[in-house]
Amino acid sequence: MPDDLNLNLLTISSARAAVQERQTTATSLVEKFYSKIEIEDRPVGGTNAYLTLTRERALEQASKLDRIVDQGDPLPPLGGVPVGIKDVIVTGGVRTTAGSKILGNYVPPYDSTAVTRLERAGAIVLGKLNCDEFAMGSSNENSAWGPVRNPRDLSRVPGGSSGGSAAAAAAGTAVATLGSDTGGSIRQPAAFCGVVGLMPTYGRVSRYGLIAFGSSLDHIGPLTRSVKDAAILLRHLAGHDPMDTTSSRVAVPDYEQEIEKPVRGLRVGVPTEYFPSELDSEVGKSVEAGIELLAGAGCEVKSISLPNTKYAIPTYYIVATAEASSNLARYDGVRYGYRSQNSKTLREMYRRSRDEGFGPEVKRRIMLGTYALSAGYYDAYYLKAQQVRTLIARDFLEAFKEVDVIVTPTTPTPAFKLGEKSDDPLSMYLADIFTVTASLAGIPGISVPCGETKNGLPIGMQILGRHFDEATILRLAHAFEHARAASLSRSA
Ligand code: GLN
Repeated sequence: MPDDLNLNLLTISSARAAVQERQTTATSLVEKFYSKIEIEDRPVGGTNAYLTLTRERALEQASKLDRIVDQGDPLPPLGGVPVGIKDVIVTGGVRTTAGSKILGNYVPPYDSTAVTRLERAGAIVLGKLNCDEFAMGSSNENSAWGPVRNPRDLSRVPGGSSGGSAAAAAAGTAVATLGSDTGGSIRQPAAFCGVVGLMPTYGRVSRYGLIAFGSSLDHIGPLTRSVKDAAILLRHLAGHDPMDTTSSRVAVPDYEQEIEKPVRGLRVGVPTEYFPSELDSEVGKSVEAGIELLAGAGCEVKSISLPNTKYAIPTYYIVATAEASSNLARYDGVRYGYRSQNSKTLREMYRRSRDEGFGPEVKRRIMLGTYALSAGYYDAYYLKAQQVRTLIARDFLEAFKEVDVIVTPTTPTPAFKLGEKSDDPLSMYLADIFTVTASLAGIPGISVPCGETKNGLPIGMQILGRHFDEATILRLAHAFEHARAASLSRSA
């Protein structure tokens, strides 16, 4: 059996085909990934993307798939595709920590809907991926289990909070991964690591089994090495789930077909607010070149304005921290995870469990959020933030009367060095300046690689669309990916 697969180049369809056509078996594919993880993903000197490997579960699923092939039957659509799951998405019987010491020994009794759906479609879960504690961060340096390193440059951060998910997809230690996005945590690390990251519309993918950060902002979505793979995964993840009342009943299109439709005539809005003078010049140039490629593909490019963009960061950090402070109240040392020993009273046990279990960024958010929700400040901060959130959403609704999609840089800079911003929470918060707006508005967004800096660091272009119109942003991203590959091969 010629089994010389290059794991870094596998896609969903090539991995499935390799197993179906007996170029390899699912079992041997899984073993290959674990060998690669052992070498490249070491916690020290490697990427440190995986926190927990689910070897037994993976091999069990693999042997089921191998039996299907042995019987001469067709594999399910994701059959034989090895995936990694961000550790804020629960897996029954498998430790799920949310990157936090407070859940260090937590083994959930059930699977999230997202994982159930992927496994039902034949995907093989290799393990759980590192992330910022409770998904709070932009660099993956807030994990209780050590930072993830960017596979493109190990001295740099992979972005966050889905840093492990982006790093694993980029390094080829999984074919695809799941992340979560509350204010940019799929798109921003995708941009930093040079992969595709999709935040679906709020409600498109069930949040059942997603450990809550900001419930009105949380989304699960895929990180992949191609737009087509993101489209395939979304098809399997999306759709109503009786276990999540906020999950939508809007029909789920066949995204794999949708992305092949032509993009000629699509109206592309370019908001002036997303190209400020402080924008990193290499990022700016690369995204502008990307927009020219879109024009070359027959899109109609228009300058637009989203005037309330300037309020997005403060609005996001009030809404997200307020919801977080409420969601995190459940970690009290009684119901879940870590309990401080030797306390004399119940109160002391609560206080010490939370003090010892949560890291500094999570505590900062709890304090900010509790303050914003407290009597006397609620109207001034939380209520006001919700009103501004409506204005930001309205900016998009207005813009989408004139254009079909909006294109921006995903991040203001390429990946920064580990430690570069860790003492300055405000400058860290600004890493999400271009992503939080879509999160607040509930619209879908995708980050697609659009270039590299002189030092070889990836740059991402963000495409935003109308509510539930993932098909159009995927279609444009797919066309862009092809146009860029063609232009790169011309210049080579
Ligand atoms: N970096 C942002 C934050 O820290 C977004 C995080 C996320 O999307 N989960 O809140």
